[in-house]
Amino acid sequence: VAAQTASFVLTGRVVPVTGAADAQAVLIRDGRIEEVGDASIAHRAAAAGIDVRDVGDRLVIPGFVDPHIHLQHLAVGTRRGVDCRVPTCRTIPDVLDALRTGLSDVSGDDWLIGYGNLFFDQKVAEHRHPTRQELDSISDRVPIALHLGGHTTVLNTPALRLARVERFMAGAAGGWGSPVVELDSNGEPTGLVAEIDPMLPIPELASEQVADHIESTYQELFTQLGVTTFGEMIESRGAADVLNRLVASKRVRARGVMYAMVPASMPLAEATEWVAGYRSAAGPDWLRAAGIKMFADGGYSSRNAASRTPYVADHSPRPGYRGRLNLGYPALRQALAAARSAGVQLAVHTNGTRAQDEVLNAVNAAGDPTAHLPVRVEHLGNVMGSPEDILAWRTAGVIPVLQPAFLYNFVGDYVPMLLGDAGMTGRLSLRTMLDEGVMPAASSDVGLGAESEQSNPLFGIWCCMARRSYWGREIEGDQRITFAEALRLFTLEGARALGMANEIGSLEPGKRADLVVLDGDPRRSPDQIRRSAVDSVYLDGAEIYRRARTN
Ligand SMILES: [Zn+2]
Repeated sequence: VAAQTASFVLTGRVVPVTGAADAQAVLIRDGRIEEVGDASIAHRAAAAGIDVRDVGDRLVIPGFVDPHIHLQHLAVGTRRGVDCRVPTCRTIPDVLDALRTGLSDVSGDDWLIGYGNLFFDQKVAEHRHPTRQELDSISDRVPIALHLGGHTTVLNTPALRLARVERFMAGAAGGWGSPVVELDSNGEPTGLVAEIDPMLPIPELASEQVADHIESTYQELFTQLGVTTFGEMIESRGAADVLNRLVASKRVRARGVMYAMVPASMPLAEATEWVAGYRSAAGPDWLRAAGIKMFADGGYSSRNAASRTPYVADHSPRPGYRGRLNLGYPALRQALAAARSAGVQLAVHTNGTRAQDEVLNAVNAAGDPTAHLPVRVEHLGNVMGSPEDILAWRTAGVIPVLQPAFLYNFVGDYVPMLLGDAGMTGRLSLRTMLDEGVMPAASSDVGLGAESEQSNPLFGIWCCMARRSYWGREIEGDQRITFAEALRLFTLEGARALGMANEIGSLEPGKRADLVVLDGDPRRSPDQIRRSAVDSVYLDGAEIYRRARTN
């Protein structure tokens, strides 16, 4: 009887993501997939007294894998911060009003926190960032930080003072990418800073509060959307401790893989040692540390992506400006050597084409890539400078971890704005990559300031198929890929990026029974994919979510 309760069959339209045609049934036993095939599986199971769950013409797919998220950053930021995103706020006065309502909740030496979207200055009516003086009009005593996407933040005068921004002007390292402190014509900070968020001395929440926020955020923005495995970019050892407790106690019901951000979480040598020696309470099937994450450059939103070609004059601090390289070839060689000697994976944030050159040259100079863990290149493919680039990507054996939601978020509208003609082509060239044998993994890169649909893999799949920008522009339509191809990037390829492709990511005998049942077959209508819902989610063969039915 015990064996039977751990066994069941799902019948429906089963998409194995192995390249094989749809199957009709999947047999699950003791948390693993035992058999995938035709309806005879269900007949035999029923005869043997095994539970058969028929989901009709609904799609049964592997659990989604999101290999690059900022869960803690998102959870803590959204719970303690004021939502100032467009379209909730449409103008800068709207933003100031929203922040003012949050002021009464600030006590002691706490900060007032707000958050807006990536490229906020382009989405808000005034087409500029708020200033230090505008934030001072809310309070010239309480420190205020308005985070705008993952890279850019506006600080008021007390916050600038507490952040000791002069140290960055004197050459101190940033947290993710090269630090920026924007100055006005008098040489005074405008309030706009970039790449220094982890260095802001904002008092931390108690770890139990952080845990509560992560638990509810994961449930709402990941589990209910079918994400059964995630890759978290951790900012501190403390963040890893919180995650360890949450996964072990099943308050977060998912498999987690951690990447230590260097230098934000710890220095390089310490980080490789920590990753190599990490053991979670629940064991490596549930939580493991896989690698380190470093930044070769910064964000496009902060004009910090290192590009081969100059930024256009209107978006450039000086003529000929090409963004800022944070780690060049020698530092990347050193990081790669450190990671490889510790047996851990290297993930490099690489936005612009000039940063891509440094990373690809470093990997290609370091010998046979197949003898080591593949290097993850986060955001590789946002912009491909030239079709010949793909040769270096293929030779290096790197895994591009790209974000189809960026087509919607910024690559469609704002990369051409920043780079002119050089930003009009090569944006997430998915068709070219697949045809040329470079298989990327898709992720959401969700963090504070993400768009509301960004963590939804079905939204990401829609982005791969529709290629429409925030403002509705079509983006290089000849680079569309199919639903089946996009689904693979959000499942099996995500698993490969995390080093788990033998365990999860497809429906094959022997793999873990992480599955999602959708509310129908969205392949019938591509436009419907974005609006499709998840009916139920299985993790290790256990149903961990079922959508409430209204009919
Ligand atoms: Zn990221």
